[in-house]
Order: sequence, then structure tokens, then C-alpha cells
Amino acid sequence: MPQEPLATGVPLTVLAEDEQLFRDSVLEFADQRIRPLVREMDERALVPRTLLDELFGLGVMGIEIPETFGGAGASFFHSVLAVEALSQVDPAIGVLVDVQNTLVVNALMRWGSDDVRRRYLPALASKTVGAYALSEAASGSDAFALTTRATDRDGAFALNGRKLWITNGYEADLFIVFANVNPEAGYRGITAFLVERGTPGFTVGKKEDKLGIRASSTCELLFEDCLVAPANVLGDVGKGYKVAIETLNEGRIGIGAQMIGLTQGALDHAVAYTKERKQFGKAIADFQGVQFQLGQAATELEAARLLVYNAARLRDARRPFLKEAAMCKLFSSQVAERVTSLAVQLYGGYGYVKDYPVEKLFRDAKIGQIYEGTSNMQLQTIAKLMLS
Ligand SMILES: Cc1cc2nc3c(=O)[nH]c(=O)nc-3n(C[C@H](O)[C@H](O)[C@H](O)COP(=O)(O)OP(=O)(O)OC[C@H]3O[C@@H](n4cnc5c(N)ncnc54)[C@H](O)[C@@H]3O)c2cc1C
Repeated sequence: MPQEPLATGVPLTVLAEDEQLFRDSVLEFADQRIRPLVREMDERALVPRTLLDELFGLGVMGIEIPETFGGAGASFFHSVLAVEALSQVDPAIGVLVDVQNTLVVNALMRWGSDDVRRRYLPALASKTVGAYALSEAASGSDAFALTTRATDRDGAFALNGRKLWITNGYEADLFIVFANVNPEAGYRGITAFLVERGTPGFTVGKKEDKLGIRASSTCELLFEDCLVAPANVLGDVGKGYKVAIETLNEGRIGIGAQMIGLTQGALDHAVAYTKERKQFGKAIADFQGVQFQLGQAATELEAARLLVYNAARLRDARRPFLKEAAMCKLFSSQVAERVTSLAVQLYGGYGYVKDYPVEKLFRDAKIGQIYEGTSNMQLQTIAKLMLS
């Protein structure tokens, strides 16, 4: 791929005018339309359809989809800004939008035939939620050990197997499903299929009851002789492993964005609270011990944001970004865990109850170290690239 020319000397965190406007509009939406719903969505583990419709209306469900297909025609970096801004208020909505853009739309834009792009991109930009189904009960980190099979059935593919942990599974109407057409060929049999909700033989199963990001649905998918037409193969037969690796390499930058948004949200709450809360006759923010803790948290967040923005901008510039993407997810999820824990600490007893917002952000933070490659998997990638 041709490399994009790079603007030199521009600080990473300085946004172009369109980036700034876009980020501000998403932040305003998150503050006004999402914030009032956060507690109820968390308790009910549900995103109302009306909010989904509003997200489509806002233009954040097809950020990189060309305008000719009804999308925003923007960059990957814009997706990162949207996920960050939404996660500042609710990381569950952040990941819903993240999976839609950085995994599903991204994979279709990159690997979809003209026919696939024409059939699905306009719907993804306007009304259809997407999901990305790779993991299974016995294959997580070892993703290519998946056992869902696709066998030839009168010119179509019959899918049989089960997927686990699929984000957006409850809301989605379009699923990218990875199955193996030739287990003897190992990972070279893995193929990506586009499966629509309602296809006979395909059911969405149990929804998980989770620690955090509770409003984001996480579902089991079941396939029993589910027939998929060859026109719904995404990319080439036997090349699904490339689709999986390459989309996840980019997707994890989106998780980095979720983590820095969430951390910013927690830190903002902590700063406001420590200025208000009085002990020993003064605001607790006046104690140097507290100031040092806030200073440390802000520094770690800034470092995490630089890693995330750099990885996203490298990706948009078509420069190598693999190591940077792994680093940004690893570090930002560690920072999210530390800073949300600090926020709970600074709220004291109030931090431990659901009437205040930091308890939820603390629960939400943990997932950053697990999905789209655990922290150990990120470390493995970084070390492999260092040692090769
Ligand atoms: C809320 C949620 C949403 C998710 N959404 C999706 C989704 O949309 N689509 C999808 O396909 N999947 C999704 N997943 C699955 C997720 O990607 C996996 O859970 C993750 O990759 C880890 O796999 P595992 O759970 O099987 O853990 P395992 O792979 O069993 O790992 C368990 C532990 O062992 C460690 N470990 C494993 N192998 C090694 C090794 N070689 N060296 C060192 N340590 C190792 C891991 O780091 C981890 O700490 C989701 C999961 C959750 C919880």
C-alpha cells in the first residue's frame, strides 16, 4: 500500500479542525444523551434501541464508510476519537461503536468484494449493528485452534459450531464468523463468512452476566447446518486467518481508545470530587499526598494517549504499527486499572457504592486487559517484534 505523506512537526495530540469538531460533537452527545442512561443501562445490562438509532444518526456507526455508501468518509483516527469520547461517559457504548467500526466495517472495507460492500456498507452506516465472531469456548488466545467447521453443501457452505463472548451479539444483524473449511490445513483452512441474523441454522444464545461494560452485550452464537452462500465469503477461502489477524491488529488500537477515554472520565470525576470533599477543614485536593496521586495519574494518561494516537496515526499513514498497537493496548489498559482504582480510593467510601460513577468505571476497566488479545499476548507480540 502507498504510504501517506506525513505532516512533520505537528504535536500528536493537536487535532485538525475536522477532528476537533467531530470529537466535540461526540463528547456533547455522550454527555447529554448517554450520561443520563448510564446507571440504568449498567443495571439492566441493556442498550435501548432508541440510543442505537441516535448513534446511527450521529454518524458514528460507519465512520470510515465512504459517503457514497452513506458513511462519514472519515479516517481510522476519527474512529479512535469517537471511541475515546464515548468511553469517557460509558465504555460499554465505547466498545459497541468500536467493534462496529474498527473490526466489522474495517474488515468489510478491506476484504469485501464490490458486491459485499454494496450490499452491506449502506446498512452498517444507517441501521445495522455488526459483530465479529472469532473466539470459542476452547480457543481464545490460541484463536486459530477454532473448531467451527464450514463444509461444502451443494455449492454453499454449511457452518457447524459455537462461538463464545461475541460483543454486540444481542443487537447485531450482521456477523463476521470465522470457520475452518479444511481442518487438515490448520490455520490455512480458516475462512471469514458474513452471516445475517435470521439465517436458518443460526441462533444467538446466552447473554453473559458480566463484571463490567455490562450494557455491552456478550453472547454465544450457535450454528447448526447454517448455509452460507459463497458470495458471503469475506476475502478468500482459506485466508480468513489474515482477515482475523489484520483486523485485530487495528482493532486493539480502538481498545486503547476505550481505555484512555475511560481513564479520562475517572480522572475528571476524581479531580472534581477532591476539590469538593472536605476533611480536616480543607478540600482533600489541598493535601500534597492527594496532589501527587493526581499528578501521577494525569502523567500516565497522557503517556497512554500518546501511544494510542501515535498507533492510530501510523495506521492511517500506512506505516508499520503492529508493535505500537500492542504497546498502546497493553499500557492503556494497565493505566485504566490503576487510575480507576485511584479514583475509587480518592472517593473513599463513596467510591465503593453505585451512587457515584467511579465504581462502574473501575469494573469496566478490567476488560481492557482481556479482550482483543490479553496483556500477555500483547507482550508476546512486542517481544517477538523486538527479537526478530
Ligand atoms: C466481554 C468480552 C467481550 C469479548 N468480545 C469478543 C468478540 O466480540 N469477538 C471475539 O471473537 N471474542 C471476544 N471476546 C473473547 C476474548 O477475545 C478472549 O476472552 C480473549 O482473547 C482471551 O481468551 P480466553 O478467554 O480463552 O483466555 P485464555 O486464552 O484461556 O487465557 C487465559 C490466561 O492465560 C494466559 N495465556 C494464554 N496463553 C498464553 C501464552 N502463550 N503465554 C502466556 N500467557 C498465556 C492469558 O494471557 C490469560 O491470562 C470477548 C471476551 C470478553 C470477556
